[in-house]
Amino acid sequence: MNQKITILDLPFINTTQEKFNQELVKRLQKKLNTFIVTANPEIAVYAHDNPAYKQLIQQADYITPDGIGIVKASQMLNKPLTERITGFDTLTSLLEIANNHSLKIYLLGAKPEIIQQTVQNIQQKYTNLQLVGYNDGYFTDKQPIVADIKEKQPNIVAVALGYPKQEEFIARNRNISDAVWIGVGGSFDVLSGKVKRAPKIFQDLHLEWFYRFATHPTRLKRIKVLPRFIKLVKKEQH
Ligand code: UDP
Repeated sequence: MNQKITILDLPFINTTQEKFNQELVKRLQKKLNTFIVTANPEIAVYAHDNPAYKQLIQQADYITPDGIGIVKASQMLNKPLTERITGFDTLTSLLEIANNHSLKIYLLGAKPEIIQQTVQNIQQKYTNLQLVGYNDGYFTDKQPIVADIKEKQPNIVAVALGYPKQEEFIARNRNISDAVWIGVGGSFDVLSGKVKRAPKIFQDLHLEWFYRFATHPTRLKRIKVLPRFIKLVKKEQH
C-alpha cells in the first residue's frame, strides 16, 4: 500500500477502494485482527479537540478518507489522496467478500426496527454469508453483547453506533475476536431502506452531502464543522 497521507495528525491510507478490498480479503484469510476507521471532517475535528479519541483512532490499522472534504484537504496540502473510501462502500464490499467466502458477520448498532430490517435485507441479498448475530445500538449493558461476539467468533464486526462510540467500542473490545472491525456510522439506516443514498448524479458531482442535508436538515452539524476543518488544515500548510 502507498505512503499514508497525514491530515490533522491522522494517517489516511492512499489507495483505491478496489485495492483496499483486496487487502481486506488477504487479512480475512489470515484472520488478522483489524480495526478500520472511516474518518470524515467531523471526526477529524472531533479528534483534534479530544486527544484521547485521537490517540484511540491512531491505533487503527486503517484510517480511510470518508468524504470529499478529506480528499479536498489533501489537495490543499499538495499531497492528493487517490480517492475517497467510505464506510458504506467498504461495508458493502465486506458483505460481498463475506458472501463469496461464506464468512461470519456480526452487526451492532442502530435502532431496533432498523437493525431488524437490515438483517432481513442482508439475509435476502447475501444468501451465502453467515450472519451469526446482531444487536441494536441502544443497550445499557454491553457485557451480554461482548459475550455474544466472543462466543460467535465472527470474521467481520460492523459497528454502527456513530462516532465516537463505535470507535471506543471497537478499541476496547477488538481483542475478543480476530475479526475485521469497522465503524460504519449511519450505514444500517441506508441498508434498512430507511435512508436513501443520494441519486448517482449527486454522488458523481460530489454533492452527496448537499442531497443528504436537503433531505435531512439535522445533518447541518456536519456542514457547520467544515469552515473550522478547513481553517485547521490551512494551518498545516505552513
Ligand atoms: N446509534 C446507536 N446508538 C447510539 C447512538 C447512535 O446505535 O447510542 C446509531 C444511530 O441509530 C445511527 C448511527 O448510530 O444508525 C449513527 O449514524 P450517524 O449517521 O449519526 O453516524 P456518524 O456519521 O455521526 O458517525
